[in-house]
Amino acid sequence: MAAIDGLPPLREVIAAHGLSAKKSLGQNFLLDLNLTAKIARLAGDLRQSDVLEVGPGPGGLTRGLLSEGARKVLAVEKDERCLPALAEIAAAYPGRLEVINGDALDVDLRGRLTPPIRIAANLPYNVGTELLVRWLTPKDWPPFWESLTLMFQREVAERIVAKPGDDAYGRLAILSQWRADPAIALTLPPDAFTPPPKVHSSVVHLKALPAPRFPANAATLNRVVAAGFNQRRKMLRSSLKGLGPGIEGKLEEAGIAPTARAEEIGLERWCALARVMDGGPA
Ligand code: SAM
Repeated sequence: MAAIDGLPPLREVIAAHGLSAKKSLGQNFLLDLNLTAKIARLAGDLRQSDVLEVGPGPGGLTRGLLSEGARKVLAVEKDERCLPALAEIAAAYPGRLEVINGDALDVDLRGRLTPPIRIAANLPYNVGTELLVRWLTPKDWPPFWESLTLMFQREVAERIVAKPGDDAYGRLAILSQWRADPAIALTLPPDAFTPPPKVHSSVVHLKALPAPRFPANAATLNRVVAAGFNQRRKMLRSSLKGLGPGIEGKLEEAGIAPTARAEEIGLERWCALARVMDGGPA
């Protein structure tokens, strides 16, 4: 029996259900339940929250979230081999775990969760960034979630929290920091996982801001930032030329030197440029 919940240790669960890890599904499992409970605590006070978990696998983080008091966990898992193991957890926490067998990129979660909603996941690496971008770019803000607590490869985590001048600074940093407050909460070596991945992993906690840090139209901001970072070492007057005539004047109006490079420009100036591009004041 495991210390946090009286269910069998994860090694026994994996052996009993034949859950050999599949690389194609990004399966690197966390087997230490003290560690998964710690990650669950990084998500905040769960007792008043519903939690969406992507990729529960054999259920290590799921058990952490439930033992830390999550009101309800909705877990979306693509690998149907994991369902019997997850059913055992659901039986140990009656009415608090709902499992959906499907692809997190496709399933419709509307109506299955009650706010406040937090998202917590040890994400499959192959879909992690795509899911993050989706959660950060809903039509309306604030989004349906209060916070995201997500495991990424450390290199991706560094891109999320990067500041101007950092090598990792780019679109993902701007997207993540415009309407959320991201921080790296924990970094783990490869041997924390079974099987171990090639690189370190980090848990990033992102708290949704009630409103964007600076006003801007999301599509315009995305367009200027994409153009700027597509050619990150070029001067902006050249990398943004394709966005239309008079770009030098618009950069100046936004308080940006036309000779500056994308990697030097902070969020506030990017938003000013987006407003100028839309015909408004900086
Ligand atoms: N949460 C478990 C843990 O921490 O040990 C497993 C994490 S493992 C890195 C990623 C999990 O996501 C695997 O169980 C995998 O089957 C699942 N997965 C992969 N792609 C998925 C997708 N598109 N939708 C839902 N689950 C997916």
